[in-house]
Amino acid sequence: MDYNLDKAKKHFEQVKPMIACYEQHFGPYPFYKDSYKLVETPFFGMEHQSSIAYGNNYRKGYMGLDNSTLGFDYIIIHESGHEWFGNSITADDPADLWIHESFTTYGESVYVECMQDYDAAIRYLNKQRWMIMNMHPIVGPKGIRFNGWDNDNDMYYKGAWMLQTIRMQMQDDDKWWKILYDFSTTYSHSIINTDTVIAFFCRESGENLKPVFRQYLYHKSLPELMYTVKKKGKNIEMEYRWECDENGFNMPLRLKYNDEYVWIKPNTSWQKTILKGWKNPDQLDIDIDHFLINTTILN
Ligand SMILES: [Zn+2]
Repeated sequence: MDYNLDKAKKHFEQVKPMIACYEQHFGPYPFYKDSYKLVETPFFGMEHQSSIAYGNNYRKGYMGLDNSTLGFDYIIIHESGHEWFGNSITADDPADLWIHESFTTYGESVYVECMQDYDAAIRYLNKQRWMIMNMHPIVGPKGIRFNGWDNDNDMYYKGAWMLQTIRMQMQDDDKWWKILYDFSTTYSHSIINTDTVIAFFCRESGENLKPVFRQYLYHKSLPELMYTVKKKGKNIEMEYRWECDENGFNMPLRLKYNDEYVWIKPNTSWQKTILKGWKNPDQLDIDIDHFLINTTILN
């Protein structure tokens, strides 16, 4: 609105580094021919191709909330992410709306990583984690114009955390960023579905990520690491397995022990590993700051 012009000129400066960051990781802004616009509206925010409804009142955070921790205007950063995921890449059925919301929510953390660093992005994702509910599968029923589960945000925050967890298990950030970029550019201006995403990430990573995607998308429960630790001579013996719904779920997992990172490769059967050098088992940290999982120690 004309009376907000001065405020907008200053406040909308954050668009420039945001677009640069998204172009770096998701490819060129998909609607150069249409331009990019933030259009002031009474409604707080909504994605529309090249014309974002903007109603966050020129504040950081979201509707005036969380100003102290979010260093940016949530509506600008989130709704702009939808230009890539939602407006350019579009799900063929609302059952797969996670393709819009999970990648866009993950994109918020990508913006944080661009502006600060990976640790800040992880802190950002962890701040959203309490909103994950695990009450329903993220993918809804197809063919019925599914409109989401009531009071369920899992296609946003759990979906973003699924992507973060998959990034971790790849153990290769260059590969992760390349796949993300190639995914976004390969399917630019395309209509796709969940199978498209899973097939692309499996093919490009050379890893069978299908059971991991499926566990997070088609089941409500998180994968749970069941484990025991006991002293064995001068070392610790750890036994572990994944408790989950998907056969073949074998996601590698990072631990911290004796101040060093250790990777284990659990599957759904019990396995054991020796962690060298005795240390109090309480100081064995499973890296739940970077992975979205549950853990249960059985002894
Ligand atoms: Zn959204």
